[in-house]
Amino acid sequence: TRLYNQHIVVAGAARSGVAVAELMQRKGAGVFVSDAGTIGEVFRERLESSGIPYEQGGHSDRSLEGDFLVLSPGVPGDAPIVRAYEDAGKQVLAEIEVASWFCESRIVAVTGSNGKTTVVNWLADIWKRAGRSFLLAGNVGTAFSEVVEKSSAETDVILEVSSFQLDHIDRFRARVAILLNITPDHLNRYQNRFEHYIASKMQLPGHQTEEDTLIYGYDDLVVREQVEKMALQTAHPELLPFSSEIEVPGACLRDGIMRIQTKTHNEEVLPMDQLALPGKHNLRNGLAVALAARVCEIDKGPIRDSLTGFEGVPHRLQKVRELGGVTYYNDSKATNVNAVWYALTSFRRPVILIMGGRDKGNDYRELYDEVREKVKAVIAIGEGRDAIQEQLRGVAPVIWLADSMQDAVYKSYLKAEKGDIVLLSPACASFDMFESYEERGHKFIQVVMTLQEE
Ligand code: ADP
Repeated sequence: TRLYNQHIVVAGAARSGVAVAELMQRKGAGVFVSDAGTIGEVFRERLESSGIPYEQGGHSDRSLEGDFLVLSPGVPGDAPIVRAYEDAGKQVLAEIEVASWFCESRIVAVTGSNGKTTVVNWLADIWKRAGRSFLLAGNVGTAFSEVVEKSSAETDVILEVSSFQLDHIDRFRARVAILLNITPDHLNRYQNRFEHYIASKMQLPGHQTEEDTLIYGYDDLVVREQVEKMALQTAHPELLPFSSEIEVPGACLRDGIMRIQTKTHNEEVLPMDQLALPGKHNLRNGLAVALAARVCEIDKGPIRDSLTGFEGVPHRLQKVRELGGVTYYNDSKATNVNAVWYALTSFRRPVILIMGGRDKGNDYRELYDEVREKVKAVIAIGEGRDAIQEQLRGVAPVIWLADSMQDAVYKSYLKAEKGDIVLLSPACASFDMFESYEERGHKFIQVVMTLQEE
C-alpha cells in the first residue's frame, strides 16, 4: 500500500484521530500523534496499547517531520501545524480521505448544515429494512477509519461528512452524495466568510465523477445556485434535485404524493402525510433518503416502511411526553438559528420556546415571523439569554429568564395551557451549562418526566 514505510503525523487525538492513527499503523506506516490540548484518558490508553507514540499540550518539532499530516476534524484548518505543513509543500489530509483509500464499498455520503445525522440514520433504517449490508460512520458516532476494513463490494458505507473533513480531501469520492442545505454555521472557522464555508461543502460533489450521483436540496437557494454553476461545467455527476415546493425530476410531491423520477424509475412512492417525522425539514429529508435509496436500487417496500416508521434520532425534535394536553419536545441538537426556525415551522399550535446557551453571534431576526405567529413565551437560559431578550423584545409577547434547565421547564409548565407545545430548541451551543447537547437534552427530559398533572 501507499503507506508502507511512510512517516505520518496525526494532529488531534480524539475519536477520528486515534482511529486513523491505528488504521495507518496497521497498514504499515510509522505514525506519530500530536495534540495541542490534553488527550482524553480513553484515547491515551488506546494509543498506548497500540504502541503509537504521541505527545500532548503542544506540537513539538517531531510533529513537523511527517511526510504528510492527517487532520482530525476538531483541529482548525488555520492551526499553526497545518500552516507549517502547507508552507513546507506537504499534504494535509482529512481522516475520511485516508480511510477512503482502503474502502472497498460504495460510499453514500451526506453533508449539509442541518439534518446530516437524521439523514444518515434514516438511510441506515432503510438499508436495515431492506436487508442490505451497510456500515454507518462519520462525523457523529463511529469514525470511518474505524470501520473501513470491514468494507466490501456487498456492503455500502453510509457516511456523515462535515465541512471540516471536506476541506482536506483529495481522492475521496462518493458514489452517491446528498447535499441537504447550506446555511451559515461554524463561520468562526471560515474567517467569517460564508463563501469559504460554501466552497468547503461543495468539495463533496466537486470530487465526484460523471459515473456518480448528486442528490441536492433544490429548495435551498445557495445549494441550487451552486449546483446550477456545476451543471455548466462539462464533467459533473448526475444531478438529481429534491423539492417539497415544486415538481422537479428526482424527488418531489404531486398532490401530496411523493414521486421519484430517475434515469430508470418514474413512480409514486407514498402519500407524504404518512411520514412519521414532523416538519417540512423532515419532509425534505424524507425525499432525499427515498431518492438515494432508489438510486441504490432498493425496493419501494422497505422505503415506504421506513418513511412511515422511522421515528428520528434523539435530541432532534424528539417528542418527550404529553401531559395535560401539552406536548414536550426536545430539540437540544438545534444549535443554530436555522434549526430553530425549522422546529417552529413544524408546529401549528402555540409554542413555549426554551432557548439559549453559548451564543455564536446569533442573529435572531430570521425567527421573527415564526415567533410572532406562534410563540406565546420565550424562556431564555444560559450565557446568551440577555442577547435573546434584547433581540426578541417586542417580538415575543413574553420573555422570561431562567437560571437552570429545571427552572426553565417549571416556568414553561406554568405558562403552558392545553393544546400548547413546550419546545427546547436552543439555537446555541450547550457548553456554558452542560458537557454536550446530549446532556442538555437529557436534563430537559429528566425534568419534564418529573412534572405532574395538576
Ligand atoms: P446535523 O447532523 O447536520 O447537525 P441533525 O440531524 O443532528 O443535523 O439535526 C440538527 C438540527 O436541525 C435539529 O434541530 C433538527 O431538527 C434540524 N434539522 C433536521 N433536518 C433538517 C433540515 N433538512 N433542514 C433544517 N433543519 C433540519
